[in-house]
Amino acid sequence: MEIESIYREANALLEGHFILSSGKHSKFYLQSAKVLENPKLAEYLANRLANTIKNSSVEVDTICAPALGGILAGYELARALGKKSIFVERKDGEMQLRRGFEVKSGEKFIICEDIITTGGSAMEAKSVIEKLGGEVVGFASLANRGFCKTENIDIKILKGECKLDRTVPLFTLANFSFEIFDKSECPMCRDGDVAVKPGSRV
Ligand code: ZN
Repeated sequence: MEIESIYREANALLEGHFILSSGKHSKFYLQSAKVLENPKLAEYLANRLANTIKNSSVEVDTICAPALGGILAGYELARALGKKSIFVERKDGEMQLRRGFEVKSGEKFIICEDIITTGGSAMEAKSVIEKLGGEVVGFASLANRGFCKTENIDIKILKGECKLDRTVPLFTLANFSFEIFDKSECPMCRDGDVAVKPGSRV
């Protein structure tokens, strides 16, 4: 099944006039939580993502997700690969490893997100793992927003600056490359339409 139609059917690919967390405007919004609320779908997507990793030469011990958005995707990916799952979380503005989770020296990690936009949180998670002696051998996400090059999908034109470490492969299920606009240049605003923060009317 096509990933885009799975997102649409789960009401996870919203169409309207949205203010993204970056402050930019877009006609579309991805809400992966709506796909992952269905455990069977989550399992299906994670299995597909796991297969792209199994088909590569990357070997991993543990999946680490940046909380909160990445936790469900990371957990399901770990289950599909038969690996351990941990997460890092933001406290006092800084990404940290808490809750008794441990990183062994040389332990190999994939950082898993639900959606990769520019990859900022994933890079913060990577830096936490590396400071504790772990090695990050890959990034993974269900959806990619078209800023970062991926291992398994050929993207002709990238949308903007990707913060991910390019020496580490990114595995993703689908590329959703929407147009985004500065408020001053947004065609929907120009038509007099009012933008909403996603979630405020659904
Ligand atoms: Zn607008």
